[in-house]
Amino acid sequence: MVEIKSDAALDAMREAGRVVAHALAAVRDAAAVGTSLRELDEAARTVLAEAGARSPFLGYQPSFAPTPFPAVICTSVNDAVVHGVPTDYRLRDGDLVSVDCGAELDGWTGDSAISFTVGTPRPADVELIDATRRALEAGIAAAVPGNRTGDIGHAIGAVARSARCGMPADFGGHGIGRRMHEDPHLPNRGRPGRGFPLRHGLVLAIEPMLISGGRDDYRTGPDGWTLHTADGSRAAHIEHTVAITKDGPRVLTLP
Ligand code: MG
Ligand code: MG
Repeated sequence: MVEIKSDAALDAMREAGRVVAHALAAVRDAAAVGTSLRELDEAARTVLAEAGARSPFLGYQPSFAPTPFPAVICTSVNDAVVHGVPTDYRLRDGDLVSVDCGAELDGWTGDSAISFTVGTPRPADVELIDATRRALEAGIAAAVPGNRTGDIGHAIGAVARSARCGMPADFGGHGIGRRMHEDPHLPNRGRPGRGFPLRHGLVLAIEPMLISGGRDDYRTGPDGWTLHTADGSRAAHIEHTVAITKDGPRVLTLP
């Protein structure tokens, strides 16, 4: 069931989104060569705790997962696309890191992800992150009343294709509100004019995941959580929670 949010609910979701943005900024600040993924999780936990927010990630166990998720962020490094579990792994020079974070505040949820490099970046990683950012921006631009979810997916898919990147077919964005994952599902590929109709008060997490090797295949790691590219190439993942409004897309997960 799709829930259309009131304007007051959108304002409340904006506050949850702000907490997510601050947590991601703290993670970004903490990330350097030698920082462990667990330390990044600690940085995000501190921000959530200080804001009085709950983590929708911690303890989350969807049907595919063998264990409850043990952290408040996902940390996906290099060939990991999404759902990476923070471990004692210490970041190395040139690593490409995607961090996904959620927060629940006063009953409303925000969900956002960033990708960045640590130390001296590889030029190909800079290009991959840029393409993923452009895919998200194209998706957000299509998130307007009168369009459908297929228009968002089409916009994201066009950028991925022009960058010669793959995307894992089974994963995409989603409705979001009181819970992190609500209807409708938002595929990262779509046909214009198809899918769920967008209207004022619908909130979507838009989250392109680009695979630099150009193929869509992935494999699940031994932890049962981490999605890796099948070809070992690098991946990036950037996400915002976006409200469709009559005044245009409203990004709820900005600082
Ligand atoms: Mg997310
Ligand atoms: Mg999401």
